[in-house]
Amino acid sequence: MIDFIEICSKCGGQCCKDANPPLSRRRLAILLENGIDIEKIAFEKYMHPKSKEDGFCIFFDNGKCSIHTIKPETCVAGPFTFDLKGDMLEIYLKLEKICPLVAYLKKDKKAYREQFRVAVENIVQLIMDLDERSLREILKIEEPDTVKVAEITLKLKE
Ligand code: SF4
Repeated sequence: MIDFIEICSKCGGQCCKDANPPLSRRRLAILLENGIDIEKIAFEKYMHPKSKEDGFCIFFDNGKCSIHTIKPETCVAGPFTFDLKGDMLEIYLKLEKICPLVAYLKKDKKAYREQFRVAVENIVQLIMDLDERSLREILKIEEPDTVKVAEITLKLKE
């Protein structure tokens, strides 16, 4: 079994730097219910955890995520990420050169399939929860060093 925490801590949690993972109102409520101080949240073009002076997420502590069990959807989805074109959800995978986890996933098909499933589930949930303006801002963010691995048609609005 792949030890995500072990691999991620070896890389120094680079994906937690300049990450600004989006927070929906639902996720914010979960964080607050779990005692997270609202002062740690930035309300900018979209809601996300604040960053420390070194650029790392405010929840990155001692080489790992301090809110692992309740972390935002895009953090759970990594190293998969997404774009949305109309109702077409595009799933991207980070390149191995920026995420060592990718090499492990490529070697272990079962683990890849499971992480892909978890990623899609979390990304779809996030898209459903976000307000349109936040989603629009998030979709403007470029994600270099990724490759498209899937396209899924969503039925977002009936
Ligand atoms: S919430 Fe946790 S996993 Fe997500 S960017 Fe912050 S420290 Fe990293």
